[in-house]
Amino acid sequence: MQNYTGRFAPSPTGPLHFGSLLTAVASYLDAKHNNGTWLVRMDDLDPPREIQGAADNILSTLDAYGLHWDGEVIYQSQRHDQYEAVIQSLLTKGQAFYCTCSRKQLAEHAPAREQQISPPYPGTCRKQHAPPNKPFSIRLTVKGASHPVCINDQLQGRFCQNLITDVGDFIIKRKDLLYAYHLAAVADDHWQNISHVVRGIDLLDSTPRQHYLQQLLGYNTPHYAHLPVVVNDQGQKLSKQTFAKAIETTQCNRTLWMALSTLDLKPPASLQYESPEAILNWGAAAWSPKALINVTRINSPQITINV
Ligand SMILES: [Zn+2]
Repeated sequence: MQNYTGRFAPSPTGPLHFGSLLTAVASYLDAKHNNGTWLVRMDDLDPPREIQGAADNILSTLDAYGLHWDGEVIYQSQRHDQYEAVIQSLLTKGQAFYCTCSRKQLAEHAPAREQQISPPYPGTCRKQHAPPNKPFSIRLTVKGASHPVCINDQLQGRFCQNLITDVGDFIIKRKDLLYAYHLAAVADDHWQNISHVVRGIDLLDSTPRQHYLQQLLGYNTPHYAHLPVVVNDQGQKLSKQTFAKAIETTQCNRTLWMALSTLDLKPPASLQYESPEAILNWGAAAWSPKALINVTRINSPQITINV
């Protein structure tokens, strides 16, 4: 069997909440169940959205929960040279181009499709292969993509997307010089030899774009498993926007036990009094994501703290 390397890649936009903890736990258990390596990568690509101290806070929370990672933590903010090299290679091969369209121009090109908020890029600058004298973004051309591009997700099944008609040439470097998530994730998954990606279902629809990038760059495509989203009692995804509470670190064992329970691993009640490490060891042995197959959302348990 191929060596298993998994990863958890949070963005330091705030502390971990129960939804992000669940993703960390599931990717950790999947790796450990398969005697794999589990890496942590900080997806700090977008400084305006980040909160000072959040990265350290996430790492100390993972540590408190016994989610000890292998190797060094990688920070995407320190990988810009590598992303730039990947972009240059795509530009050289004519697979990417400089786009100088303004927001207004793009809006004018939008076909009158009312429900669609961002229509596919019309291809205006596709022939622009030299750096222009005004601000530009860099887009990847999807004209060579098979239609549709499909992936076989281990939990959500076959997922296909027509990049040509539904997505269009997409941005890999923004006008404000920030690198796009797809580009950085694909570059780092390759560089870190990631074989398995276990992450939230909100990223499922970006996976065909990443798969296409992997094909263009000659990279392997990891196995993907997209976890159901955790929702609050109003059916909203737990997130900073829905005021999801930060998970506490005073009763990690109880919260971890609830995470295993939410993942439908049916932990015995007595396990909640054990150490985080013991709970995770039990979880790694019991791990089976079968109950999550074709599940797209799960309810967050009520997390109460005993005082
Ligand atoms: Zn353009």
